[in-house]
Amino acid sequence: MRGSPPGYVMSAFDFDLFVIGGGSGGVRAARMAAQRGARVALAEMLGPDGLGGTCVNVGCIPKKLYSYAAHYAAAFEESHGYGWEFPALPLPAAQGALPGAVACGSADQRVKPVLDWARLKANRAHEIARLNGVYDNLLRGSGVTVLNGFARIEGPNTVGLATLNADGSPGHQTFTAAHLLIATGGTPHVPHFTGREFVITSDAVFDLEPFPRRLLIVGGGYIACEFASIFNGLGAAVTQLYRGEQVLRGFDDEIRHFAAAEMVKSGIDLRLNADVVCVHQTGEGLRVDLEGGSQVLADAVLYATGRVPNVQGLGLDTVGVALGAKGEVRVDEHYRTNVPSIYAVGDVTGRVQLTPVALGEAMVVVDALFGPAAGKVPRSMGYDFIPTAVFTHPNIGTVGLTEAQARERHGDITVFRSEFKALRHTLSGSSERTLMKLIVDTASDRVVGLHMVGAEAGEIVQGFAVALKAGATKAVFDATIGIHPTAAEEFVTMREPVRR
Ligand code: FAD
Repeated sequence: MRGSPPGYVMSAFDFDLFVIGGGSGGVRAARMAAQRGARVALAEMLGPDGLGGTCVNVGCIPKKLYSYAAHYAAAFEESHGYGWEFPALPLPAAQGALPGAVACGSADQRVKPVLDWARLKANRAHEIARLNGVYDNLLRGSGVTVLNGFARIEGPNTVGLATLNADGSPGHQTFTAAHLLIATGGTPHVPHFTGREFVITSDAVFDLEPFPRRLLIVGGGYIACEFASIFNGLGAAVTQLYRGEQVLRGFDDEIRHFAAAEMVKSGIDLRLNADVVCVHQTGEGLRVDLEGGSQVLADAVLYATGRVPNVQGLGLDTVGVALGAKGEVRVDEHYRTNVPSIYAVGDVTGRVQLTPVALGEAMVVVDALFGPAAGKVPRSMGYDFIPTAVFTHPNIGTVGLTEAQARERHGDITVFRSEFKALRHTLSGSSERTLMKLIVDTASDRVVGLHMVGAEAGEIVQGFAVALKAGATKAVFDATIGIHPTAAEEFVTMREPVRR
């Protein structure tokens, strides 16, 4: 073992830790364990191009890049109020003729900005490939043995790896390890219906060809809402269907309604209590028949109706790893499965499906198995006050309890609320509004929930999450000086409760 962690006895296995899956949780666990001196292998079924997992390849990162792209459409439009003009010069012929160019913005006689979808996709792919390389270097630089292939657990300490030989024929290798870590993530789930083969999931949406001028999105979770905002901003006519009463279940009710109203205002055709019966390919595009008899024509249909744990073919039944009702790997508070040598972290455990959570869980496992970093105590994970953002337009940022959860947990709560038009939009011409909300446990004065719909909500809420985690009271918020003029200062200047 390279510089064994203190108190750790070198095992007779090929590795001390074998990580299955090169996503957020797997890469972090492998890298940190190797840095502590453990002998680590990591298998990724997609090879070097898959390193970074869902987040890097088909999740957080490309989505945020497309969200930035989409924001430009509004920015071009809004800049006129600030004195900017784009003189109506003819576009260079080559630029106007770019394949996939899409008109965006609504300027009448002004030049319309056009989106070069092909360029956006290529630039995104280039950046993702760069990140894949960064992950590869980080792993190898830490001394992790990176293996390409589909891993299958063959015993409590044994992993079989299906690989491809140099001549393209299938190969197989077997490895042993003192500990196995399942970090295989999740995969999109599409229900069964006629025409299912015509729809796509978030995995394919980033590379759609051609640009979908009419996009139908099915689902009401954060992924569905984010793509609705993104493609609406990029210039598609977006219809979003959700079978429930309101999108973004689980978020604060007022925030859900406010965000949904803003999305509709921005041009998304949001249809609630609506569901798909079947999808047919026609000469005019995909015809989607809805319950109740109406139809929608679309160039692409994106299903964002949830994700399921990636456990197929992993061999969990062979070793008797227990699964939960939704197929998630069941773990205890130390992320250990019922098989003592096998651990699991991240989306495959079906808990909070966010990259920073997978990273945090991975660190807990590494600290427990190989000891904490020098001078540190072993980490633990708290699931309270996990901040999160939804990159709709405008963004949602949230940390802590919803109003309903706070009422249930604390009984007597005090709610502060502020709704306004951000200073930026006084000249921009945009009718976008901002909502901020604080929920206080009346007895302790502790702020137990903080929610926002508005520009850069994620950036703003991250800082406040530290305050909530530290147990800040409303009195501390009141004593905090605002930064003027910002939208964020509103969180420290709300004085009058709206209800108790
Ligand atoms: P993953 O990152 O999914 O990694 C699992 C890896 O295991 C994959 O690379 C897979 O190829 C590999 N694998 C699977 N089975 C095997 C096998 N048998 N052998 C070898 N390799 C295998 N989270 C955020 O925090 N913020 C966001 O803004 C955000 N946006 C998202 C947007 C979208 C569209 C999606 C889909 C997700 C988003 N997420 C976001 C969630 C985030 O991506 C996940 O929570 C995170 O990637 C989970 O990490 P993980 O390590 O559990 O799994």
